[in-house]
Amino acid sequence: MTAHLYAQLAKNFSDGSKVAFEQPNGVFHTYADVEAGAARYANALISLDVEPGDRIAIQVEKSVDAVLLNLGCLRAGAVLLPLNTAYTAAEVGYFLSDAKPRIFVHDPARPELAEAAAMAKVAHVETMAANGMGSLPQRAVAAPAAFADATLGPNDPAAILYTSGTTGRSKGAVLSQENLASNARTLLEYWRFTPDDVLIHALPIYHAHGLFVAINTLLMAGGRMLFLPKFDAELILKLMPGATSLMGVPTFYTRLLAHSGLTREATAQMRLFISGSAPLLVETHRAWRERTGHVILERYGMTETGMNTSNPYDGERVAGSVGFPLPGVSVRIANPTTGQRLGGGEIGMIEVKGPNVFSGYWRMPERTKAEFRADGYFITGDLGKIDARGYVHIVGRGKDLIISGGLNVYPKEIETAIDAVPGVVESAVIGTPHPDLGEGVTAIVVREKDAAVDEMTIVAALERTLAKYKQPKRVLFVNELPRNTMGKVQKNVLRDVYGEIYK
Ligand code: ATP
Ligand code: MG
Repeated sequence: MTAHLYAQLAKNFSDGSKVAFEQPNGVFHTYADVEAGAARYANALISLDVEPGDRIAIQVEKSVDAVLLNLGCLRAGAVLLPLNTAYTAAEVGYFLSDAKPRIFVHDPARPELAEAAAMAKVAHVETMAANGMGSLPQRAVAAPAAFADATLGPNDPAAILYTSGTTGRSKGAVLSQENLASNARTLLEYWRFTPDDVLIHALPIYHAHGLFVAINTLLMAGGRMLFLPKFDAELILKLMPGATSLMGVPTFYTRLLAHSGLTREATAQMRLFISGSAPLLVETHRAWRERTGHVILERYGMTETGMNTSNPYDGERVAGSVGFPLPGVSVRIANPTTGQRLGGGEIGMIEVKGPNVFSGYWRMPERTKAEFRADGYFITGDLGKIDARGYVHIVGRGKDLIISGGLNVYPKEIETAIDAVPGVVESAVIGTPHPDLGEGVTAIVVREKDAAVDEMTIVAALERTLAKYKQPKRVLFVNELPRNTMGKVQKNVLRDVYGEIYK
């Protein structure tokens, strides 16, 4: 009777009458409902001959039933494998052939997924719709509401989560029971979540942010979630007076700032705004503070590790920084090629070690080996530095580093300089093939509506602030930057589009 992670989440389920999930349509689930619902799904899985260690692949719309299914997997010892709802049938087919799940659960509105599953030779397929209909919910309703949890150890796998695929093909990160449990325990304390907390949950639940950071932390705290199907600025502003906290990607904050309803009064009851999954612009941090009086707390994590660093709860939350290593997590900066440790604010590869760090990629032993140092540190792929006060700063991904004329150019530095030019909303700086320089620094810029700023204005502004080799060779304007569902700028897309400009 262990179910390692589930047992830790369920410690605070003792007050069964307390609401865990509340939806905008008035439907709510108490902690007793959560416990019983998870048991029903665990029983439904067992009735389909699922055994501990079997993978359950899930591509369904966000719903409380999907959460209950996740918890049912944990109780039965099955390995949860959530898939981004944006994936096409062909993409899902790839993930299914790679992961070889025992069961695949999909949205009944997309029958083509059943075909993809058949082609990938998945033994059993079930359906689940956002409104709680489908073959698997039906089985769950008919199943007993009590379940004897599987006996699991801390190192048993809890989930395989695929990375966002921002820099290449997504990799499946195998996360253990204790990887997830330790991170939830740490975040709960660091961010001071209590049973009195009410979190506005508007993130997708196929990604670590909405699934583990938000749900595990709140369940472990015994708090309440206002569970929205998706981001909706109007609705979130309406809910804030009855909430205490929000976890979001940076685009949540820019979109809320674009709404006139965002005021000091609207946010007066809130105690905490957290941002992550992509860099928060310094400008957004500043504008949020001015409009609401709240300072956004930015943190840094990834699929493979959960959360690594966070700005402090008390103490200064520094704009443009991702804060300090979380308790129990070691963060160091190393020379990307040699692995030699760097200090004194030097820029290098961010490497992390701790109970939160995964054991390896699913069926990619070579890749796994290449991304760990001999002493167990995971090579994140992100470049950054640690300042004199201990704050970690990310300067970009290793894969986005530009080498122009043999010199390193860190995109973040150029983007920060461009973003400071009046009339600029945001920018993305990339390296594109250049006949002389190897790579030319290229800036893609979004300007404010009707702003007079053009290529010349930006070039002139940067001439004063940046060394010659860092100055963009070209500045191009777009209406918006390409982003994936987690709000990450897709620089690979930009590199494809602008790949020929110096040819
Ligand atoms: P892939 O590994 O497949 O290319 P991905 O790295 O985008 O995709 P995720 O695991 O979802 O997939 O994202 C983790 C990455 O997100 C981090 O490595 C980092 O680059 C970025 N990130 C997360 N939080 C922040 C933050 N606060 N500031 C800047 N970058 C962040
Ligand atoms: Mg990654």
